[in-house]
Amino acid sequence: MTDWAGHPAVASTTEAAGPGRPSAGLAPLGAHGTPGQVLALIRAQGDVTRAELVGRTGLSRATIGARLESLQRAGLVAAAETATTSRGRPPSRFRFRHEGGVLLIADAGATGVRLAVTDLAGTVLRQSRHSIDIASGPEPWLGEVLSAFGGLLGSAGLGASDVRGIGLALPGPVDSAAGMVVSPPIMTGWDRYPIRAFLGAHFSCPVVVENDANAMAIGEHRLSHPDVSSMLMLKLATGIGAGLITGGVIFRGADGAAGDIGHIQVVVPEEGDPPLCRCGNRGCIEAYAGGWALVRDLRDAGRYVDSVHDAARLVAAGDPVATTLLRRAGRIVGIALSDAVSLLNPEVVVVGGELAVAEDHLFAGIRESVYARSLPLATRRLQILPAVQREMAGVSGLVTALCDHLYDASRIDALMTAAASSPSSASAD
Ligand SMILES: [Zn+2]
Repeated sequence: MTDWAGHPAVASTTEAAGPGRPSAGLAPLGAHGTPGQVLALIRAQGDVTRAELVGRTGLSRATIGARLESLQRAGLVAAAETATTSRGRPPSRFRFRHEGGVLLIADAGATGVRLAVTDLAGTVLRQSRHSIDIASGPEPWLGEVLSAFGGLLGSAGLGASDVRGIGLALPGPVDSAAGMVVSPPIMTGWDRYPIRAFLGAHFSCPVVVENDANAMAIGEHRLSHPDVSSMLMLKLATGIGAGLITGGVIFRGADGAAGDIGHIQVVVPEEGDPPLCRCGNRGCIEAYAGGWALVRDLRDAGRYVDSVHDAARLVAAGDPVATTLLRRAGRIVGIALSDAVSLLNPEVVVVGGELAVAEDHLFAGIRESVYARSLPLATRRLQILPAVQREMAGVSGLVTALCDHLYDASRIDALMTAAASSPSSASAD
């Protein structure tokens, strides 16, 4: 099977799988072609000629011309640079105008946040990392993030008017439709806090809020496993979370709470009384194996550790107590993971997060439980792999989620219709 440009379709899907670029396999292929659908094709493909768009959509040359003109007027598409050849003028090519603004990305953990300013295709222009405790509450936390964003924008010679969208990942249960955190176990003061309204006072652009493990799952899937239909991303950090990809897209469940694996309770007879979790229950896997529990157990064993970061460093340095505890953590996480594997039968389980270090010990523990407890059919083709994108997975996933929203074909069509009826505001920002 080849695509319309004569390339193998699979290769073009892989090529197109940048963070802010839709998978070409998802691009509309039928004989339709609203401006939003034409834009989706152009974003997926990189750059295209008018004739290629005509061939792909089945629309007339005149209609494609009108679509391209309106997309160019809205600042979404530009003529691509073409090299002149000795055989005359090459056909005009068109591309997505990725330089037509920037995205602000904040990928938060419990104690720190990674910030990035990217172009509209997800290329990182500026980035930084800050230690901010999420439990300081939404206003101090968001205030610090806003001021750091201001610094990053300023250093790139940009301002608030250049920002087209904001993506925020938070370590708690997120109702992504409402853009709110709901009853988080650790995020004091964040319950139903109106994040979009706070950011909207400073930036007039869409805001996408995601759970941190979901953002990682989207990033790892799009960039490292784009052809995998069913994937489970396990994030091991201060807390433990999971993001599920089914049918190639993130699975959120009815209310956005899917994947909250850290608070599944397990019985581990050899561990004695189940430990108390931050959520108030006993025996959650996070209370045995989360970063905060590892810090607790390392201190009990006489190691001086102040933070999850210290614990991860001890593990990476091969400290015998720390590596033994990590293998035990892997075994206990593997108990809940084996249930998830039995229920969902994923093709790939990706393990990432700050504690996904010393992979030998961690993965040995995880595999020990998963292969002992899941049925052979569910594990026959199962791969358990370390995260490839590492600390940038969340940023990549947020760019993807944000671009999926910003450049959704029906959203673009609605904006174009509004712009057409009000020519003075012909912009799809
Ligand atoms: Zn719990």
